[in-house]
Amino acid sequence: MSKVETITPRTFDAAALRRDFPILQQEVNGHPLVYLDNAATTQKPEAVIEAIAHYYRHDNANVHRGAHALSDRATAAFEQARETVSRFINSPEACQVIWVRGTTEAINLVAHSWGRSNLGPGDKVLVSWLEHHSDIVPWQLVCAATGAEVVPIPITPEGDIDMAALDTLLDERVKLVAVNHVSNALGTVNPVQEIAAKAHAVGARILVDGAQATAHCPVDVQALDCDFYAFSGHKLYGPTGIGALWGRRELLDAMPPFLGGGEMIETVSFEGTTFNTLPFKFEAGTPNIADAIGLATAIDYLGGIDMTAAAEHELGLLAQSLELAKGVEGLRRIGAPKESVGIFSFVLDGVHPSDLGMLLDQQGIAVRTGHHCTQPLMAHYQVPGTVRASYALYNTADDVERLFAGIHKAVRLFR
Ligand code: PLP
Repeated sequence: MSKVETITPRTFDAAALRRDFPILQQEVNGHPLVYLDNAATTQKPEAVIEAIAHYYRHDNANVHRGAHALSDRATAAFEQARETVSRFINSPEACQVIWVRGTTEAINLVAHSWGRSNLGPGDKVLVSWLEHHSDIVPWQLVCAATGAEVVPIPITPEGDIDMAALDTLLDERVKLVAVNHVSNALGTVNPVQEIAAKAHAVGARILVDGAQATAHCPVDVQALDCDFYAFSGHKLYGPTGIGALWGRRELLDAMPPFLGGGEMIETVSFEGTTFNTLPFKFEAGTPNIADAIGLATAIDYLGGIDMTAAAEHELGLLAQSLELAKGVEGLRRIGAPKESVGIFSFVLDGVHPSDLGMLLDQQGIAVRTGHHCTQPLMAHYQVPGTVRASYALYNTADDVERLFAGIHKAVRLFR
């Protein structure tokens, strides 16, 4: 028997996984819920909900104040959660993982701490045209304060970063390149490793917005060779209000604190305050302990799933969508990236995206409509917004069928 014949064919059972997510077992507007708004936030498995409840029932205390048993247990669980995140993204050390509220806060931390101490007049920050507002506005703010300039990196008509254009923009005045790993609006998977190499060749740093990547692609910050990586727990089947910033050790060590307060200090006096070591230097105040534990539980939950098969399954749902889209007159997919995750963004002639979203909701189908916090990208495609179906590991072919039944109904009603 050849090696290939001995491999058990991978079966990926989305319908079975769906049963792990209690929220999906409900009817909305009289129909079984079809949840296709996963790029906005994913649903949470029972294990995550239970881990958070367990923490509050049994272990709740403030961390790093080890005066009693509960505090010791809370601290241990909280720091184990950091270790879990660290392993998940292949960080060399857990202290390079900084807890934040999410991607937005992570990018603001880098912009305000690293940016204010490393940017000056004449410097440039390259930001791709695919970026979410949270990877544009912090750079605009810090550039306005430092005299540096935000320069957009063009994209191709298909919605890929224009690598030739990037080459022409890169020079020694570029101090940072900010790109997403995966675009939330089009699903594009960006060649982060290649962009990192190009940025480093001119002495620039690279920040990767990983908000949309962690649930679909393996993330290895060392292999990507990035300088900063930001992500949110809630897009990864974990809770809201928790996320992580990963940074290169020497950069984090050299950066000034972002927020001041408890936890982040070593000593405080009116003569002068000294700061804590990593990661605590960047974690002022009582952290979001329960949700850090919830996020680690989500990562553990995903560890029991073949995530390569999950990603293939989601791409299968995208392929099914593209096939069914051929039967809908006037449906236009926005972008057609070379490599993408299971995100299907489209417009429908004669039907406003928000009208279609409302009609789908009446049938129990949740999609996102609008600009997806990517107004420059929408302007680029000259659309006010799109309808976005974003697939997760618990979506099924039946969900896609239901989406298209809803689209056909809208066509009949609105045209
Ligand atoms: N970046 C991308 C690509 C996103 O999709 C999002 C959220 O939609 C964010 C950043 C912001 O994430 P959060 O709101 O969790 O901070």
